[in-house]
Amino acid sequence: MAVLDRSHDPALTSWVASARGHADFPIQNLPLGVFSPPAGPPRGGVAIGDDIVDLAAASKAGLFKGEALRAAQAAAGPMLNPLMALGAAPRQALRLRLVELLEQGSPARADVEPLLHPAADCVLHLPAHIGDYTDFYAGLHHATNVGRLFRPDAPLPPNYKHVPIGYHGRASSVRASGEPVRRPNGQRKLADEAVPSFGPARNLDYELELGLWIGGGNAPGEPIPIGEAGGHVFGLCLLNDWSARDVQAWEYQPLGPFLAKSFATTVSPWIVTAEALAPFRVAQAPRPDGDPAPLPYLLDPQDQSQGAVDVALEVRLTPVGGLAQRLAAGHATDLYWTPAQLIAHHASGGCNLNPGDLLGTGTISGVTPGSCGSLLELTRGGRDPITLAGGGTRRFLEDGDEVSLRGVCRRDGFISIGFGECRATILPAPAGAA
Ligand code: CA
Repeated sequence: MAVLDRSHDPALTSWVASARGHADFPIQNLPLGVFSPPAGPPRGGVAIGDDIVDLAAASKAGLFKGEALRAAQAAAGPMLNPLMALGAAPRQALRLRLVELLEQGSPARADVEPLLHPAADCVLHLPAHIGDYTDFYAGLHHATNVGRLFRPDAPLPPNYKHVPIGYHGRASSVRASGEPVRRPNGQRKLADEAVPSFGPARNLDYELELGLWIGGGNAPGEPIPIGEAGGHVFGLCLLNDWSARDVQAWEYQPLGPFLAKSFATTVSPWIVTAEALAPFRVAQAPRPDGDPAPLPYLLDPQDQSQGAVDVALEVRLTPVGGLAQRLAAGHATDLYWTPAQLIAHHASGGCNLNPGDLLGTGTISGVTPGSCGSLLELTRGGRDPITLAGGGTRRFLEDGDEVSLRGVCRRDGFISIGFGECRATILPAPAGAA
Protein backbone atom coordinates (compact mmCIF):
# COMPACT_ATOMS: atom_id res chain seq x y z
CA MET A 1 0.00 0.00 0.00
CA ALA A 2 1.31 3.44 -0.93
CA VAL A 3 2.14 5.40 2.23
CA LEU A 4 2.86 9.11 2.17
CA ASP A 5 5.24 10.59 4.74
CA ARG A 6 7.42 13.65 5.15
CA SER A 7 9.81 12.43 2.42
CA HIS A 8 7.07 13.36 -0.10
CA ASP A 9 6.44 16.86 1.34
CA PRO A 10 6.57 19.31 -1.59
CA ALA A 11 8.00 21.96 0.76
CA LEU A 12 11.08 19.79 1.41
CA THR A 13 14.25 21.10 -0.25
CA SER A 14 17.89 20.03 -0.16
CA TRP A 15 21.09 21.91 0.62
CA VAL A 16 22.44 20.22 -2.55
CA ALA A 17 21.77 23.19 -4.83
CA SER A 18 21.42 21.14 -8.06
CA ALA A 19 18.64 19.07 -6.47
CA ARG A 20 16.32 22.07 -6.14
CA GLY A 21 14.12 22.01 -9.24
CA HIS A 22 16.05 19.05 -10.70
CA ALA A 23 14.02 17.41 -13.50
CA ASP A 24 14.74 13.87 -12.27
CA PHE A 25 16.38 13.76 -8.87
CA PRO A 26 15.00 16.26 -6.32
CA ILE A 27 15.15 15.23 -2.65
CA GLN A 28 11.69 13.64 -3.02
CA ASN A 29 13.10 10.95 -5.36
CA LEU A 30 16.37 9.51 -3.91
CA PRO A 31 16.73 6.62 -6.41
CA LEU A 32 19.18 3.81 -5.70
CA GLY A 33 21.90 2.57 -8.04
CA VAL A 34 25.48 1.35 -8.37
CA PHE A 35 28.29 3.67 -9.46
CA SER A 36 32.07 3.85 -9.67
CA PRO A 37 33.78 7.11 -8.70
CA PRO A 38 36.84 8.11 -10.77
CA ALA A 39 39.11 6.07 -8.49
CA GLY A 40 37.42 3.16 -6.81
CA PRO A 41 35.32 0.05 -7.30
CA PRO A 42 31.55 -0.05 -7.90
CA ARG A 43 29.38 0.62 -4.86
CA GLY A 44 25.79 1.55 -3.99
CA GLY A 45 24.70 5.15 -4.16
CA VAL A 46 21.75 7.51 -4.13
CA ALA A 47 21.20 10.22 -6.74
CA ILE A 48 20.54 13.72 -5.41
CA GLY A 49 20.48 16.45 -8.05
CA ASP A 50 23.67 16.18 -10.10
CA ASP A 51 25.49 14.32 -7.28
CA ILE A 52 25.64 10.81 -5.85
CA VAL A 53 25.76 9.93 -2.14
CA ASP A 54 28.25 7.12 -1.42
CA LEU A 55 26.30 4.78 0.89
CA ALA A 56 29.31 2.73 2.02
CA ALA A 57 31.24 5.86 2.96
CA ALA A 58 28.22 7.32 4.73
CA SER A 59 27.86 4.09 6.74
CA LYS A 60 31.52 4.20 7.75
CA ALA A 61 31.13 7.84 8.75
CA GLY A 62 28.49 6.78 11.30
CA LEU A 63 25.61 8.61 9.62
CA PHE A 64 23.16 5.70 9.86
CA LYS A 65 21.87 3.51 12.64
CA GLY A 66 19.35 0.70 13.11
CA GLU A 67 17.39 -0.39 10.06
CA ALA A 68 18.81 2.42 7.91
CA LEU A 69 22.34 1.20 8.71
CA ARG A 70 21.35 -2.36 7.77
CA ALA A 71 20.09 -1.08 4.43
CA ALA A 72 23.12 1.12 3.71
CA GLN A 73 25.52 -1.71 4.56
CA ALA A 74 23.58 -4.07 2.27
CA ALA A 75 24.05 -1.50 -0.53
CA ALA A 76 27.79 -1.06 0.05
CA GLY A 77 28.92 -3.60 -2.55
CA PRO A 78 28.82 -3.71 -6.36
CA MET A 79 25.25 -5.11 -6.54
CA LEU A 80 22.06 -4.10 -4.74
CA ASN A 81 20.74 -7.69 -4.45
CA PRO A 82 21.52 -7.87 -0.69
CA LEU A 83 19.51 -4.68 -0.12
CA MET A 84 16.71 -5.97 -2.34
CA ALA A 85 16.54 -9.16 -0.26
CA LEU A 86 15.88 -7.19 2.95
CA GLY A 87 12.35 -6.20 1.92
CA ALA A 88 10.71 -2.82 2.36
CA ALA A 89 11.27 -1.73 6.00
CA PRO A 90 15.07 -1.13 5.93
CA ARG A 91 14.74 0.62 2.55
CA GLN A 92 12.06 2.92 3.98
CA ALA A 93 14.23 3.70 7.03
CA LEU A 94 17.17 4.50 4.74
CA ARG A 95 15.00 6.89 2.72
CA LEU A 96 13.78 8.77 5.79
CA ARG A 97 17.32 9.08 7.17
CA LEU A 98 18.62 10.31 3.80
CA VAL A 99 15.99 13.04 3.90
CA GLU A 100 17.32 14.13 7.33
CA LEU A 101 20.89 14.16 6.01
CA LEU A 102 20.16 16.00 2.76
CA GLU A 103 17.40 18.45 3.68
CA GLN A 104 17.96 22.16 3.90
CA GLY A 105 19.33 23.06 7.34
CA SER A 106 20.53 19.52 8.16
CA PRO A 107 23.12 19.59 10.96
CA ALA A 108 24.84 16.67 9.15
CA ARG A 109 25.64 18.72 6.04
CA ALA A 110 29.33 19.13 6.87
CA ASP A 111 29.66 15.35 7.32
CA VAL A 112 27.73 14.43 4.15
CA GLU A 113 29.13 16.98 1.70
CA PRO A 114 32.58 15.30 1.42
CA LEU A 115 30.82 11.99 0.60
CA LEU A 116 29.15 13.35 -2.55
CA HIS A 117 30.49 12.55 -6.02
CA PRO A 118 29.52 14.60 -9.09
CA ALA A 119 27.54 12.13 -11.22
CA ALA A 120 29.25 13.44 -14.36
CA ASP A 121 32.58 12.08 -13.06
CA CYS A 122 31.18 8.61 -12.26
CA VAL A 123 30.31 5.48 -14.21
CA LEU A 124 26.83 4.06 -13.63
CA HIS A 125 26.42 0.29 -13.71
CA LEU A 126 23.60 -2.22 -13.74
CA PRO A 127 22.17 -1.92 -10.22
CA ALA A 128 21.85 -5.65 -9.53
CA HIS A 129 22.84 -9.09 -10.65
CA ILE A 130 19.82 -10.12 -12.72
CA GLY A 131 19.17 -13.80 -12.17
CA ASP A 132 16.15 -13.83 -14.46
CA TYR A 133 14.55 -11.37 -16.83
CA THR A 134 10.95 -11.76 -17.98
CA ASP A 135 9.19 -9.58 -20.51
CA PHE A 136 5.42 -9.17 -20.46
CA TYR A 137 3.04 -7.85 -23.11
CA ALA A 138 0.78 -5.73 -20.91
CA GLY A 139 0.53 -2.68 -23.19
CA LEU A 140 -3.03 -3.05 -24.48
CA HIS A 141 -2.73 -0.56 -27.34
CA HIS A 142 0.67 -1.94 -28.40
CA ALA A 143 -0.78 -5.44 -28.57
CA THR A 144 -3.76 -4.08 -30.51
CA ASN A 145 -1.65 -2.01 -32.93
CA VAL A 146 0.75 -4.87 -33.65
CA GLY A 147 -2.06 -7.42 -33.91
CA ARG A 148 -3.89 -5.21 -36.39
CA LEU A 149 -0.90 -5.30 -38.75
CA PHE A 150 -1.27 -9.06 -39.07
CA ARG A 151 -4.91 -9.76 -38.12
CA PRO A 152 -7.01 -6.66 -38.92
CA ASP A 153 -10.30 -8.33 -37.93
CA ALA A 154 -9.17 -9.74 -34.58
CA PRO A 155 -6.04 -7.87 -33.46
CA LEU A 156 -5.92 -9.21 -29.90
CA PRO A 157 -5.31 -12.92 -29.28
CA PRO A 158 -8.25 -14.55 -27.46
CA ASN A 159 -6.24 -15.00 -24.24
CA TYR A 160 -5.10 -11.37 -24.00
CA LYS A 161 -7.66 -10.04 -21.53
CA HIS A 162 -7.55 -13.15 -19.35
CA VAL A 163 -3.85 -13.88 -18.85
CA PRO A 164 -0.86 -11.50 -18.54
CA ILE A 165 1.15 -12.76 -21.54
CA GLY A 166 4.91 -12.96 -21.12
CA TYR A 167 8.05 -14.86 -22.08
CA HIS A 168 11.33 -15.61 -20.37
CA GLY A 169 13.93 -13.15 -21.64
CA ARG A 170 17.69 -13.18 -21.51
CA ALA A 171 19.32 -11.68 -18.39
CA SER A 172 22.94 -11.80 -19.59
CA SER A 173 22.50 -9.10 -22.21
CA VAL A 174 20.74 -6.49 -20.07
CA ARG A 175 23.01 -3.46 -19.84
CA ALA A 176 22.94 0.03 -18.36
CA SER A 177 22.13 3.19 -20.26
CA GLY A 178 24.96 4.58 -22.36
CA GLU A 179 26.45 1.26 -23.45
CA PRO A 180 26.18 1.02 -27.27
CA VAL A 181 24.08 -1.74 -28.81
CA ARG A 182 25.50 -3.74 -31.68
CA ARG A 183 23.07 -4.56 -34.50
CA PRO A 184 22.64 -8.32 -34.39
CA ASN A 185 23.24 -10.74 -37.20
CA GLY A 186 20.48 -13.25 -37.52
CA GLN A 187 18.49 -15.57 -39.69
CA ARG A 188 15.67 -13.61 -41.28
CA LYS A 189 13.16 -13.89 -44.05
CA LEU A 190 10.91 -11.09 -45.14
CA ALA A 191 7.43 -11.93 -46.41
CA ASP A 192 8.42 -11.32 -50.03
CA GLU A 193 11.55 -13.49 -49.86
CA ALA A 194 11.46 -17.15 -50.91
CA VAL A 195 14.17 -18.42 -48.58
CA PRO A 196 15.80 -17.20 -45.36
CA SER A 197 19.30 -15.75 -45.19
CA PHE A 198 21.75 -14.86 -42.41
CA GLY A 199 23.08 -11.34 -41.94
CA PRO A 200 22.60 -8.00 -40.21
CA ALA A 201 19.06 -7.43 -38.95
CA ARG A 202 17.37 -5.05 -41.38
CA ASN A 203 14.38 -4.03 -39.28
CA LEU A 204 15.92 -3.00 -35.97
CA ASP A 205 13.49 -1.43 -33.49
CA TYR A 206 13.17 -0.20 -29.90
CA GLU A 207 10.38 -0.86 -27.40
CA LEU A 208 9.37 1.66 -24.75
CA GLU A 209 8.78 -0.19 -21.48
CA LEU A 210 9.03 0.09 -17.72
CA GLY A 211 11.16 -2.41 -15.79
CA LEU A 212 10.10 -3.77 -12.39
CA TRP A 213 12.92 -4.72 -10.03
CA ILE A 214 11.94 -7.49 -7.63
CA GLY A 215 12.78 -7.01 -3.95
CA GLY A 216 11.91 -9.91 -1.67
CA GLY A 217 11.25 -13.13 -3.59
CA ASN A 218 9.22 -16.26 -2.88
CA ALA A 219 10.10 -19.87 -2.13
CA PRO A 220 9.73 -22.42 -4.95
CA GLY A 221 6.19 -23.74 -5.08
CA GLU A 222 4.79 -20.91 -2.96
CA PRO A 223 2.79 -18.43 -5.05
CA ILE A 224 2.63 -14.75 -4.14
CA PRO A 225 -0.96 -13.74 -3.31
CA ILE A 226 -2.18 -10.78 -5.35
CA GLY A 227 -2.76 -8.77 -2.16
CA GLU A 228 0.93 -9.09 -1.27
CA ALA A 229 2.44 -8.88 -4.75
CA GLY A 230 2.83 -5.10 -4.83
CA GLY A 231 5.07 -5.33 -1.77
CA HIS A 232 7.58 -7.36 -3.80
CA VAL A 233 8.36 -4.39 -6.07
CA PHE A 234 11.70 -2.84 -5.06
CA GLY A 235 11.37 -0.09 -7.64
CA LEU A 236 11.01 0.81 -11.30
CA CYS A 237 13.28 1.79 -14.18
CA LEU A 238 12.96 2.55 -17.87
CA LEU A 239 13.56 -0.40 -20.18
CA ASN A 240 14.24 -0.57 -23.92
CA ASP A 241 13.59 -4.04 -25.32
CA TRP A 242 15.57 -3.81 -28.58
CA SER A 243 13.91 -5.95 -31.22
CA ALA A 244 15.05 -7.22 -34.63
CA ARG A 245 11.67 -7.41 -36.37
CA ASP A 246 12.76 -9.35 -39.45
CA VAL A 247 14.43 -11.99 -37.28
CA GLN A 248 11.42 -12.02 -34.94
CA ALA A 249 8.86 -12.49 -37.70
CA TRP A 250 10.71 -15.57 -39.01
CA GLU A 251 11.70 -17.27 -35.76
CA TYR A 252 8.82 -16.67 -33.34
CA GLN A 253 6.45 -19.48 -34.27
CA PRO A 254 5.51 -21.42 -32.21
CA LEU A 255 7.57 -20.57 -29.11
CA GLY A 256 7.83 -16.77 -29.19
CA PRO A 257 10.76 -14.33 -29.31
CA PHE A 258 14.28 -15.77 -29.11
CA LEU A 259 17.35 -14.22 -30.79
CA ALA A 260 15.31 -11.25 -32.09
CA LYS A 261 15.37 -9.86 -28.56
CA SER A 262 18.14 -11.62 -26.66
CA PHE A 263 21.03 -9.56 -28.09
CA ALA A 264 20.42 -6.51 -25.89
CA THR A 265 18.08 -4.83 -23.41
CA THR A 266 18.92 -1.37 -22.05
CA VAL A 267 17.75 -0.11 -18.64
CA SER A 268 18.06 3.22 -16.87
CA PRO A 269 20.59 2.62 -14.07
CA TRP A 270 18.74 4.41 -11.24
CA ILE A 271 15.94 2.50 -9.51
CA VAL A 272 13.09 4.78 -8.50
CA THR A 273 11.90 3.05 -5.33
CA ALA A 274 8.38 1.95 -4.49
CA GLU A 275 8.42 4.60 -1.73
CA ALA A 276 9.33 7.44 -4.10
CA LEU A 277 6.47 6.37 -6.39
CA ALA A 278 3.84 6.44 -3.62
CA PRO A 279 2.31 9.83 -4.60
CA PHE A 280 1.98 8.68 -8.20
CA ARG A 281 -0.01 5.50 -7.62
CA VAL A 282 -3.40 5.62 -9.29
CA ALA A 283 -6.38 3.36 -9.85
CA GLN A 284 -6.11 0.81 -12.62
CA ALA A 285 -8.17 2.10 -15.56
CA PRO A 286 -11.61 0.46 -15.51
CA ARG A 287 -11.96 -2.30 -18.04
CA PRO A 288 -14.28 -1.46 -20.95
CA ASP A 289 -17.75 -2.99 -20.91
CA GLY A 290 -17.61 -6.54 -22.15
CA ASP A 291 -14.07 -7.25 -20.94
CA PRO A 292 -13.77 -10.21 -18.56
CA ALA A 293 -13.06 -9.54 -14.89
CA PRO A 294 -9.60 -10.77 -13.82
CA LEU A 295 -9.68 -14.22 -12.27
CA PRO A 296 -9.62 -14.13 -8.45
CA TYR A 297 -5.86 -14.85 -8.21
CA LEU A 298 -5.27 -11.59 -10.14
CA LEU A 299 -7.94 -9.45 -8.49
CA ASP A 300 -7.43 -7.40 -5.34
CA PRO A 301 -9.58 -4.34 -4.53
CA GLN A 302 -6.68 -2.32 -3.14
CA ASP A 303 -4.49 -3.14 -6.14
CA GLN A 304 -7.31 -2.06 -8.46
CA SER A 305 -7.79 1.20 -6.55
CA GLN A 306 -4.12 2.25 -6.33
CA GLY A 307 -1.92 -0.37 -7.98
CA ALA A 308 -1.20 1.40 -11.28
CA VAL A 309 1.62 3.93 -11.65
CA ASP A 310 1.27 7.21 -13.53
CA VAL A 311 4.51 7.74 -15.45
CA ALA A 312 4.63 10.04 -18.48
CA LEU A 313 6.97 8.44 -21.03
CA GLU A 314 8.83 9.66 -24.06
CA VAL A 315 10.96 8.24 -26.89
CA ARG A 316 13.54 10.48 -28.53
CA LEU A 317 15.57 9.63 -31.63
CA THR A 318 18.82 11.31 -32.60
CA PRO A 319 19.37 10.01 -36.13
CA VAL A 320 22.99 9.58 -37.18
CA GLY A 321 24.24 13.01 -38.21
CA GLY A 322 20.81 14.55 -37.51
CA LEU A 323 18.72 16.41 -34.98
CA ALA A 324 17.15 14.96 -31.85
CA GLN A 325 13.39 14.68 -32.06
CA ARG A 326 10.57 13.22 -30.04
CA LEU A 327 8.99 10.20 -31.69
CA ALA A 328 6.36 9.38 -29.10
CA ALA A 329 4.84 10.34 -25.76
CA GLY A 330 2.84 7.81 -23.77
CA HIS A 331 1.57 6.92 -20.31
CA ALA A 332 2.14 3.88 -18.13
CA THR A 333 -1.56 4.04 -17.28
CA ASP A 334 -2.13 2.40 -20.69
CA LEU A 335 -0.97 -0.91 -19.22
CA TYR A 336 -3.76 -3.48 -19.02
CA TRP A 337 -2.27 -5.21 -15.95
CA THR A 338 -0.79 -3.70 -12.76
CA PRO A 339 2.74 -4.52 -11.55
CA ALA A 340 1.18 -6.63 -8.77
CA GLN A 341 -0.83 -8.64 -11.29
CA LEU A 342 2.32 -9.35 -13.34
CA ILE A 343 4.13 -10.55 -10.20
CA ALA A 344 1.22 -12.61 -8.85
CA HIS A 345 0.76 -14.24 -12.24
CA HIS A 346 4.50 -14.95 -12.62
CA ALA A 347 4.60 -16.76 -9.27
CA SER A 348 1.15 -18.37 -9.56
CA GLY A 349 2.45 -21.65 -10.93
CA GLY A 350 5.10 -21.95 -8.24
CA CYS A 351 7.98 -20.20 -10.01
CA ASN A 352 10.22 -18.52 -7.46
CA LEU A 353 11.22 -14.91 -8.02
CA ASN A 354 14.51 -13.70 -6.56
CA PRO A 355 15.83 -10.34 -5.39
CA GLY A 356 17.19 -8.57 -8.47
CA ASP A 357 14.93 -10.28 -10.99
CA LEU A 358 13.78 -7.89 -13.70
CA LEU A 359 10.30 -7.85 -15.25
CA GLY A 360 9.51 -5.78 -18.34
CA THR A 361 5.94 -4.52 -18.65
CA GLY A 362 5.77 -4.84 -22.42
CA THR A 363 5.71 -1.95 -24.88
CA ILE A 364 3.64 0.99 -23.71
CA SER A 365 1.66 2.70 -26.48
CA GLY A 366 -1.42 4.87 -26.59
CA VAL A 367 -4.12 4.97 -29.24
CA THR A 368 -2.63 7.78 -31.39
CA PRO A 369 0.40 7.57 -33.73
CA GLY A 370 2.15 10.12 -31.46
CA SER A 371 2.02 7.63 -28.60
CA CYS A 372 3.42 4.51 -30.32
CA GLY A 373 6.17 2.88 -28.26
CA SER A 374 7.88 1.19 -31.23
CA LEU A 375 8.73 1.91 -34.87
CA LEU A 376 6.84 -1.26 -35.84
CA GLU A 377 3.66 0.58 -34.89
CA LEU A 378 4.75 4.09 -35.91
CA THR A 379 5.72 3.07 -39.47
CA ARG A 380 3.11 0.27 -39.72
CA GLY A 381 5.70 -2.45 -40.12
CA GLY A 382 7.98 -0.21 -42.18
CA ARG A 383 5.30 0.54 -44.81
CA ASP A 384 4.91 4.23 -43.84
CA PRO A 385 8.36 5.74 -43.15
CA ILE A 386 8.48 8.72 -40.81
CA THR A 387 10.02 12.00 -41.94
CA LEU A 388 12.90 13.21 -39.78
CA ALA A 389 13.06 16.77 -38.46
CA GLY A 390 16.47 17.34 -40.07
CA GLY A 391 15.55 15.65 -43.37
CA GLY A 392 15.51 12.01 -44.44
CA THR A 393 13.22 9.21 -43.33
CA ARG A 394 13.21 6.14 -41.10
CA ARG A 395 11.42 2.82 -41.39
CA PHE A 396 13.60 1.21 -38.72
CA LEU A 397 16.85 2.17 -36.94
CA GLU A 398 20.07 2.80 -38.83
CA ASP A 399 23.62 2.40 -37.56
CA GLY A 400 24.64 5.48 -35.57
CA ASP A 401 21.07 6.30 -34.49
CA GLU A 402 20.61 7.02 -30.78
CA VAL A 403 17.38 6.17 -28.96
CA SER A 404 16.67 7.76 -25.59
CA LEU A 405 13.73 7.03 -23.27
CA ARG A 406 12.53 9.41 -20.55
CA GLY A 407 10.01 8.99 -17.76
CA VAL A 408 8.55 11.56 -15.36
CA CYS A 409 5.94 11.27 -12.60
CA ARG A 410 3.83 14.39 -12.07
CA ARG A 411 0.89 15.13 -9.77
CA ASP A 412 -0.61 18.38 -8.57
CA GLY A 413 0.56 19.17 -5.06
CA PHE A 414 3.73 17.07 -5.33
CA ILE A 415 7.24 17.54 -6.67
CA SER A 416 7.82 15.78 -10.01
CA ILE A 417 10.40 13.01 -10.09
CA GLY A 418 12.10 11.37 -13.08
CA PHE A 419 13.96 8.21 -14.02
CA GLY A 420 17.11 9.68 -15.61
CA GLU A 421 18.47 8.44 -18.91
CA CYS A 422 17.89 5.20 -20.78
CA ARG A 423 19.93 5.76 -23.90
CA ALA A 424 22.02 3.82 -26.41
CA THR A 425 23.50 4.21 -29.88
CA ILE A 426 23.35 1.51 -32.57
CA LEU A 427 26.69 0.14 -33.77
CA PRO A 428 27.07 -1.74 -37.08
CA ALA A 429 26.65 -5.53 -37.03
CA PRO A 430 29.85 -7.59 -36.79
CA ALA A 431 31.31 -7.90 -40.26
CA GLY A 432 31.58 -11.05 -42.31
CA ALA A 433 28.62 -12.90 -40.85
CA ALA A 434 26.67 -13.28 -44.06
CA1 CA B 1 8.94 -6.23 -25.25
